[in-house]
Amino acid sequence: MGDVIVYDVVCGMKTAKGNWTSSTEYGGKTYYFCCDGCKGAFEKSPEYHLSNFAEDYPGVDPTPEG
Ligand SMILES: [Zn+2]
Repeated sequence: MGDVIVYDVVCGMKTAKGNWTSSTEYGGKTYYFCCDGCKGAFEKSPEYHLSNFAEDYPGVDPTPEG
């Protein structure tokens, strides 16, 4: 399923999973980023960015499996 839409929880960009170039593992899930800058910001303070994302996009799973 290359067309699964995933979010960059740092900047809010979204695109098909296959388009992302940066990713990292956190809490047993894989998160995707538009660039290494966003990836680095997430790795510094993942909970901060995850809670921000949850506020901006209520009910949205940024990294749906599939
Ligand atoms: Zn980004």
